[in-house]
Amino acid sequence: MNSISYSLTCKCNNKTYSSEKSYKNHCKTKGHLAWTEQMELKNIKMELTRRDNEITALKVQNEDLRDLNLILVKRLSGFK
Ligand SMILES: [Zn+2]
Repeated sequence: MNSISYSLTCKCNNKTYSSEKSYKNHCKTKGHLAWTEQMELKNIKMELTRRDNEITALKVQNEDLRDLNLILVKRLSGFK
């Protein structure tokens, strides 16, 4: 008995394919392609949200640093 059984399960439908060929054929179907597109869209939206959050955090950080810079410049100019 073979200890390794070859099977591929696709995440789009949870179906298991017994050979690479049948799996590859499944990957060409409209259902699978639509699922792939949906997943890509979901990932893009998640990435967009992540970047938006990063931009917001960087803007706040930038303002804080500008404020700190102003304070330091004022202090330094006072020592002249
Ligand atoms: Zn699939």
